[in-house]
Amino acid sequence: MKIDRFPEALRSRILPVPSGDYGYQCLECGGEFGIDELLYTCPGCGSVLMIRDRDWNRLKALPGSVWREIFDYRSMLTNPALRGIYRYHELIGSVIPLDSIIYLGEGHTPVIAAGEILRDWAGIPFYFKNDGQNPSASFKDRGMASAFSYLNYLIRNRGLQDVLAICASTGDTSASAALYASYLGDQVKSAVLLPRGRVTPQQLGQPLGSGAKVIEIPGVFDDCMKVVEHLSEHYCVALMNSKNAWRILGQESYSYEIAQWFEYDVSDLAVVVPIGNAGNITAVLQGFLKLHDLQIISSLPVVFGVQSEHANPVYLYYLESRPERRRYRPVTVRPSVAQAAMIGNPVSMPRVMRLVDQYRRVAGEEAFQVVEVTEQEIMDAMLLANRHGHIACTQGGECLAGLHRAFREKRVGAGKTAVLDATAHALKFAVFQEKYFSGSLEPEFEVVPKKELQNTPLCVETPDEIPNPAKSRDLQPEDYAKFVEYASKTVAGLLDLKSRS
Ligand SMILES: *Cc1c(COP(=O)(O)O)cnc(C)c1O
Ligand SMILES: [Zn+2]
Repeated sequence: MKIDRFPEALRSRILPVPSGDYGYQCLECGGEFGIDELLYTCPGCGSVLMIRDRDWNRLKALPGSVWREIFDYRSMLTNPALRGIYRYHELIGSVIPLDSIIYLGEGHTPVIAAGEILRDWAGIPFYFKNDGQNPSASFKDRGMASAFSYLNYLIRNRGLQDVLAICASTGDTSASAALYASYLGDQVKSAVLLPRGRVTPQQLGQPLGSGAKVIEIPGVFDDCMKVVEHLSEHYCVALMNSKNAWRILGQESYSYEIAQWFEYDVSDLAVVVPIGNAGNITAVLQGFLKLHDLQIISSLPVVFGVQSEHANPVYLYYLESRPERRRYRPVTVRPSVAQAAMIGNPVSMPRVMRLVDQYRRVAGEEAFQVVEVTEQEIMDAMLLANRHGHIACTQGGECLAGLHRAFREKRVGAGKTAVLDATAHALKFAVFQEKYFSGSLEPEFEVVPKKELQNTPLCVETPDEIPNPAKSRDLQPEDYAKFVEYASKTVAGLLDLKSRS
């Protein structure tokens, strides 16, 4: 829709102009640093950073109702820079001019209601928000759109040159980083570090297809992360992991989209998110807090983090209810089908601690909780969801398993409606489904396939006297007819078809 058809009072606000005073803020020592260069850790104490708009309060000059209108009307724009996550420009990147914004179709992901069978199984009504329908098929594109738009801004305005974008990955970060880097062409090269044998064939193919240098490391994700951290301290590279605080800003858009979809009434929602490196849960909490602070929403939803018992450091930390007794300890991960979240020492843990305190102060103790699930529950829940019209990955299955548990443990009330993060597309994790179906999941996953959830292809075999087009290509018409009749009879038998007469 053209600007001159918007309500007159809104027109001047529909296309945002750069504003705000952004800086990196250290969570440990409170140090503040300018954003003229990319920083990942505090130059003073080495801690993890967040980005803060020191002029945030200017946004409060407008009431929440006007912000709601701005975001709603912006959804009708055809301006590519404002089609995706940057329709919330003021909240997540207001210093970035529109002509630096990279839009590859991220955001605006669908929210799909679960049907009756699934709803009864879970206990309460719920939706999957399909973040696997982002361009590289995971939610990581939200954060990458932000981090690469900022990088593009530095290239265009600050003379940044010869950028090598690098990341460690459980598979999806690298697919996303490589995609966005390749879009920027010669200005940005990319390299990704992957744990050998711990990403799916699809996830390995993605960065290769985007032309990135793909380097396999012997170890798990936590080991790859240590290597890129070392590289980013000693070499000229742009780190694209969620340690890069620009990633967090972009991923906040997930919360904004939920709020907008539910017409800014999120009081009865339970938002369920898998936790790996904890960047996503950080962004989700921060996103809702910002909306609340600007009175765009009047109450906060309950947020559930979910972890597998094979990679559960955040769960273990919050298991202790007395804050003064809590001790954070990294864990050694065991193989998990929720492989994208198979992380024992989440980089964003200090951010989570800070934001959870803030969140609970506003909305109460119950407003943030962590649920633990088994590998068996994850696989079964994913397969169940996908048998009922969804396209959940194993981490999406983890969310459903988490909701199922939370309801059984009476940690989520019957009056709630849940929104589950289907963080990637089912196809990326097809290998786990295949192994479950064929009974070949390695024992360390501790998953026993359930007959009723398994599904394998059936085969039509022809005996010697029946012609077979796979064996002989040029069948005579009568031979071919014999084959069709035989195959049809066999299929009808397999499907138990009734004849028409
Ligand atoms: C990265 C990822 C996660 C974990 O997100 P964090 O921000 O690392 O906690 C979960 N699911 C999928 C599909 C992912 O790619
Ligand atoms: Zn510091």
